[in-house]
Amino acid sequence: MNVPLLDLCAQYATMKEEILAEIERVCDSQRFILGQDVEKFESEVAEYCGAKAAVGVTSGSDALIIALMAEGIGRGDEVITTPFTFFATAGAIARVGAKPVFVDIEPDSFNINPLLVKNKITEKTKAVIPVHLYGQCADVEPILELANKLGLIVIEDAAQAIGAERNGKRAGAFGDYGCFSFFPSKNLGAFGDGGAVTTNSQEKAERLKIFRNHGANPKYYHKYIGGNFRLDALQAAILSIKLKRLDGWSEARQRNAAEYRELFLEVDLADTLVLPAEAEGTTRHIYNQFCVLAPRGERDNLKQALQNAGVGVEVYYPVPLHLQECFAYLGHRRGDFPVSEDVSERILALPIYPETTTEQRKHVVGAIKEYFEGRP
Ligand SMILES: *Cc1c(COP(=O)(O)O)cnc(C)c1O
Repeated sequence: MNVPLLDLCAQYATMKEEILAEIERVCDSQRFILGQDVEKFESEVAEYCGAKAAVGVTSGSDALIIALMAEGIGRGDEVITTPFTFFATAGAIARVGAKPVFVDIEPDSFNINPLLVKNKITEKTKAVIPVHLYGQCADVEPILELANKLGLIVIEDAAQAIGAERNGKRAGAFGDYGCFSFFPSKNLGAFGDGGAVTTNSQEKAERLKIFRNHGANPKYYHKYIGGNFRLDALQAAILSIKLKRLDGWSEARQRNAAEYRELFLEVDLADTLVLPAEAEGTTRHIYNQFCVLAPRGERDNLKQALQNAGVGVEVYYPVPLHLQECFAYLGHRRGDFPVSEDVSERILALPIYPETTTEQRKHVVGAIKEYFEGRP
């Protein structure tokens, strides 16, 4: 049996006609840049996230960059974030010329440890970027409180967390900005690259729109140096169709996660592996990934065994960002962020996408059981 980590074809088959009709409509109009389809999708996303406004952009990476740019964050500034995230989080900080300042994660949620943020604040600190990793909101309340007191900007990296909730509030509605990615493997995936920034401030939304169009307002009069960060009309039209189905997919992912838990309990592996924890305050985990922790020193062998059994698995992420070659100038060394380092050596993502079947999950769990029975 084969269990791919992700198979988008099954999902596409359920909405192919509707999507092709929309693509045809946009093609017939020959209006590809911004316009009505983008505006419609923006208001739908804002409403879905419980934010006042959303601005469609080219990708999740650009969503982070444009939020930083709109706040004038750059050379000489520091931005606090987690080293255990996709590269783009810290990459965006560095690309606007600011310095990424890392804070270690919590061992259970894998999200930034809010208690450690305070120690890293200096007079150069301008913003904090908590990441809602794997589809679970970070513990943002203490960060928001601190930011409020000190006048810092909070930018949520919600790329993996559209529709995730903490204490009843959705990702992208907490901070000054929420940055979303519509990369195909995210819960809401475009047919290519795409992203959005949510905000509760109309004024910030207007500024983002100016920045995504080379900082021009009006046309050809450049108040700022922005860039081309525009979402395509084709992608927006497709995303509008998919957004209507997103809750159904997220619920299927939750059911799949619950079933994994039962199956691991049944075969007595729930203690050998560390299953993903839902933190206190998490009211909706959308399981963009279902990541387990292998016992120390076992992850790579377990990964290989699963691949041999036809199971698609992946390591998100094998190298914490403070140990990346490109950030050597920050002067970090192994041991600086021990929780991130430990997790990066033990984490493994299992197939969780909505269309996976119970039979497939049994195969995954069976292969893991076989690995632990067969090891020396
Ligand atoms: C996917 C992702 C991004 C980047 O999004 P792109 O659309 O691929 O540019 C940023 N941060 C996190 C946490 C992500 O998972």
